[in-house]
Amino acid sequence: MELTDLTLHEMIRQLREGEITSVALTEASLARIDATDKNLNAFITICRDEAIEAARAADARLAQGDAPMLTGVPVALKDIFITEGIRTTCASKILASFIPPYDGTAVRKLKELGAVIVGKLNMDEFAMGSSNENSAHGPVRNPWNVDRVPGGSSGGSAACVAARQVPASLGTDTGGSIRQPASHCGVVGLKPTYGRVSRYGVVAFASSLDQVGPLARNVRDCGIMLQAVAGYDPADSTSVDTPVPDYLAGLEGGVKGMKIGLPQEYFVSGLDPEVKHAVDQVVEVYRSMGAEVVEVSLPHTRYAVSCYYLIATAEASSNLARYDGVRFGERVDPGKGLKDMYTATRSQGFGDEVKRRIMLGTYALSSGYYDAYYLKAQKVRTLIRNDFLAAFEEVDCILTPVAPTPAFALGDKTADPLQMYLSDIFTLSANLAGICGMSLPCGRAEDGLPIGFQLLGKPFAEADLLRTGYAYEQTQEWHTARPVI
Ligand code: GLN
Repeated sequence: MELTDLTLHEMIRQLREGEITSVALTEASLARIDATDKNLNAFITICRDEAIEAARAADARLAQGDAPMLTGVPVALKDIFITEGIRTTCASKILASFIPPYDGTAVRKLKELGAVIVGKLNMDEFAMGSSNENSAHGPVRNPWNVDRVPGGSSGGSAACVAARQVPASLGTDTGGSIRQPASHCGVVGLKPTYGRVSRYGVVAFASSLDQVGPLARNVRDCGIMLQAVAGYDPADSTSVDTPVPDYLAGLEGGVKGMKIGLPQEYFVSGLDPEVKHAVDQVVEVYRSMGAEVVEVSLPHTRYAVSCYYLIATAEASSNLARYDGVRFGERVDPGKGLKDMYTATRSQGFGDEVKRRIMLGTYALSSGYYDAYYLKAQKVRTLIRNDFLAAFEEVDCILTPVAPTPAFALGDKTADPLQMYLSDIFTLSANLAGICGMSLPCGRAEDGLPIGFQLLGKPFAEADLLRTGYAYEQTQEWHTARPVI
């Protein structure tokens, strides 16, 4: 067994007991990145010197015996988290040399807890995508099969954990970007409730949907990472001032007597038979553990894709206005005046998918179309949220597939954006409704690719998701499998 095979909570224990040092762990993590990332391309920036320095400081703190929770463990961040003095690109050409002057709140919290940040992770440009193929730094590859996508947009965040480059990472989830790559790479990913984690210092994509969350190899480790970053932050007006529970306290409480809902709208044609089979098996496991599984209905599910792709593009078109070569963004100036400078900067700085979304969103917000598109989508969004709130009157949590198919081949959907958008069908609704969701590994397709299932929970019921997920995980071995890269 190598040091990089340890899970996050095992690393924490061994560091505390003096069985390993942070320097050794960090060096092992960097060596694993060196050995595997040529094939995976999960990292955009590796912070070698900073990481070793942080590891030395962590070892000193551990020796003094006053070390906070994450002291000495290597972690990595999606390149959407701004980091003081470390390039933050959002996988876009337009931010190719952007070095932020401060740390965002989640990053600051990780550092205060002693975590060692080894690098910044590849992603879809500005978090727009489901396959990680929309990156100015090239696609990330799936550790289980390098001809397949890892999912997106937090593809690097999922691949690095699956490949054991680091035990845990942070991603963001606007429409599935933590849960779907977690599912495709066979790791656990959690999207907290809207308002649970501060987005201060996270590059904005669609501000009414974006949320920060952890990816790790198992449920307990996800809980540890969530504990580290959750909580009210006066610097993010959408963060909610409600107490953060101890996420590990109730982890082993089991599922006896709990009620789990299966939304009939999620088990429809188009769902790959292998995925359906794997999720059916999960249902059987929960039944055998004493949970009651009942059908529920989320009748507005069929509007989720259209609703999401109107709201997300509208908000993106507004958020991305700041990359104009003056306020933010690498300036391209043909020397023919301001307007040409804006045009050249944005034409050359943004990739095709980002441009597509800016155009779609600008259209949906333009006068004359605003009522028909954006406003209508907001109303539909309320119906989708009400579906969930009604279902949660009857059940404690909801169980669904994460993605309609296992990871598809690189290049499979790049020519057809609509096909790409449709692959988000099971994850978007949680963001529209603002509820929490988690993806866990539950099987393998015939060709060896991981399959995941999703648990959706009531607002601020992350602890319920963790307890429910943990109960399942204890009966399985999917989360311990190791890809050969
Ligand atoms: N795949 C979705 C999109 O392309 C979700 C992305 C995300 O959650 N950041 O918008």
